[in-house]
Amino acid sequence: PFSALECLPQDPILGLGALYQADPRPQRMDLGIGIYKDSSGFTPILQAVREAERWLLKHRTSKSYLSSDCVPGLDNGLRQLALGDHLAAELGNLTGVIQSPGGTGALRLAAQLLARLSPRKVLVGLPTWPIHVPILERAGLSLQFWQQQGADQGFDLAALLLALDSLQPGDVVLLHACCHNPTGADPQAHEWPLIARALAERQLIPLLDMAYQGFGDSLDKDADGLRQLFSQCPTALAALSCSKNFGLYRDRIGALLVRTPTARDCQAASSHLSDIGRCLWSMPPAHGGEVVSHILASTELRALWVTEVDNMRMRISQLRSGLVAALQEAQAGERFHSLGRQRGMFSWLGLNPEEVLFLRQHGGIYTAGGGRINVSGLRPSQLANMASLLANVSR
Ligand code: PMP
Repeated sequence: PFSALECLPQDPILGLGALYQADPRPQRMDLGIGIYKDSSGFTPILQAVREAERWLLKHRTSKSYLSSDCVPGLDNGLRQLALGDHLAAELGNLTGVIQSPGGTGALRLAAQLLARLSPRKVLVGLPTWPIHVPILERAGLSLQFWQQQGADQGFDLAALLLALDSLQPGDVVLLHACCHNPTGADPQAHEWPLIARALAERQLIPLLDMAYQGFGDSLDKDADGLRQLFSQCPTALAALSCSKNFGLYRDRIGALLVRTPTARDCQAASSHLSDIGRCLWSMPPAHGGEVVSHILASTELRALWVTEVDNMRMRISQLRSGLVAALQEAQAGERFHSLGRQRGMFSWLGLNPEEVLFLRQHGGIYTAGGGRINVSGLRPSQLANMASLLANVSR
């Protein structure tokens, strides 16, 4: 029967990785896939994770099923990390946490939960992480789009506020909590309260995707927008991912955080989320969740982890500044001016497909579509060369 199916095209980012591997040039740079890399191009296991795994190896006594929706302690750990001590305590039993395989699994849980509420429209800013669209659509939600990048390539608040006017109470607004993928353009600090107020006034439901907490300004500052929305909107959802900030990509660990107006609603939503998870993966896996839960609960390991996140962030920020300086040196012009304001693992060069190909052919520089670059993959020795190629494409 499968002869009736067409073969689907390969994910373009994965295809790019294969091209990079086959490129013999020593100066090549893989800026495609969104995985943090250290200065030797390697994605390391964090020291805090190694320590937690050592501890678990010694103390774990069973691999029986987990009987709940979450590894013990993970719910409180992640709730507190996302909301901060104060708001986590204030919201108390109005919030629930269910573990998921990565942030992707959390988005899927959110989409299916929202689809149970009656037809919901979801407002999605473009460009966005490409997987957002099929996850939401396949759950039966209908999407409406707006352009989130303004003329200066920054986050366009006015365009968002205009798009909100076409929504009905109970509709959903998907927002990247920090470190926007693919553009690196987030709302400014003073814009988040305006966004929170606008959503609350219109009785809209924020769905926040927080996949890079700690990679923008700090673990706390990066959660500021999420906290404002959770504090002002009686119903709110957030897909949390531990893939990047704990470096636990393949262990698939994340969670959906839900906020409701009453404790009863929270119980009802949580029971539906359990039901959805039961039919998708039955019981949550233990390993990644136990690692995260242990790190967050241990004063020493948590401090070590925070330092490691700070170090990843500072390295990314230095590389981005290095590229900005090299572009100035190469007199690449106005076109890349917004780079310095971008945050997180990605920067957006705004290149057309020919320019993306030009960088690859002439410099061995592999970027994703639109010229999205994984900043952590930049090599300082290659910045001048990259900047001069970018100056060339702009002339
Ligand atoms: N959201 C965004 C914006 C992302 O970039 C990613 C990872 N590429 C995810 C969610 C999902 O991350 P994961 O499922 O690996 O935790």
